[in-house]
Amino acid sequence: MIDKYNREINYLRISITDRCNLRCVYCMPKEGVSFIGHEDILRYEEILRIAEAAVKTGVIKIRVTGGEPLVRRGVIDFLSSLKKVEGLRDVSLTTNGILLEDYAEEIFDAGIKRINVSLDTLSPDKYRDITRGGDISRVIRGIRKALDIGFAPIKINVVAIKGFNDDEIIDFVKLTTDKPYQIRFIEFMPVGDSALENSLGYLSNDEILKGINSFSPLERVYMGSGGADGPARLYSVKDALGKIGFISAMSHEFCSSCNRLRLTADGHLRACLLSDEPTVDLKTPLRSGCSNSELGALIENLISRKPSGYKTGCQQIQRRKCVTNMASIGG
Ligand code: SAM
Ligand code: SF4
Repeated sequence: MIDKYNREINYLRISITDRCNLRCVYCMPKEGVSFIGHEDILRYEEILRIAEAAVKTGVIKIRVTGGEPLVRRGVIDFLSSLKKVEGLRDVSLTTNGILLEDYAEEIFDAGIKRINVSLDTLSPDKYRDITRGGDISRVIRGIRKALDIGFAPIKINVVAIKGFNDDEIIDFVKLTTDKPYQIRFIEFMPVGDSALENSLGYLSNDEILKGINSFSPLERVYMGSGGADGPARLYSVKDALGKIGFISAMSHEFCSSCNRLRLTADGHLRACLLSDEPTVDLKTPLRSGCSNSELGALIENLISRKPSGYKTGCQQIQRRKCVTNMASIGG
């Protein structure tokens, strides 16, 4: 469906759980988020109905995320069913990678070939600090296994934080030399209580780009409309197998090309990452026996209310203080 600002809304991110086996300092408080009760989490059959209805409104790509999607029981069967939804062209997964080594083969066999793994540092000690206890060796083994099995692309999400990983940018870039990874630098967003409380240093993608260019000039890469690089601006170092992507949510306005909807684990469909409004509750109608066409009408109505955009400067976000945590929205 095309919205009133002429954007084609064709991408849905689904958070299947708000639970996580890590506690990244910018995403969750150390005690975890106030977990949604078991009864309030959408069942897989309910998510599949929403996915089918969304596809009828024009969604062609779905990304499964969380919390950590691989901690939810039954996720592999769910991915396999989602992959079979008629009309859906692409299903991908975002994971922190802790359980990737265990599940990589099953995920691949379920038909998912595109994966994003979050990894903000290459140092075991710093990884333990930023994730509050995570073991980086598991993530590294998971990424290597994903590469061996044949996942493509493998995107590595790096939230850039001044004073934390700005000294590792070139090390991340070097990972693309002989491996086809796509390293994606994501600007830290002060969204949710944890991000606000931890007063982490903001580092703009332009600063990173400048730093990389002085190490080795980057060439711009265009993937075309079928390239599925989404909001990322892509580059590569000459002769490198991999790519470098920049997701500049804070410094570059990208609302005008936003094609996304987000489904939270408790069944709320959101039209905007940075605003709790407008949202529609799909769980209540689903559990009251609504038809597929009623579900589709609710989704279309939300799309018709999708805002044109938000000013994404830190101050604006902090002033509005989005109440929801990233782990509930799915990033
Ligand atoms: N647990 C999975 C993971 O970490 O990849 C999936 C969910 S996580 C919420 C999705 C993405 O959001 C991750 O790449 C994470 O780094 C990013 N994220 C979380 N909080 C963020 C923040 N405040 N600013 C920017 N990115 C953030
Ligand atoms: Fe968990 Fe992902 Fe949030 Fe880290 S960013 S706490 S891994 S949901």
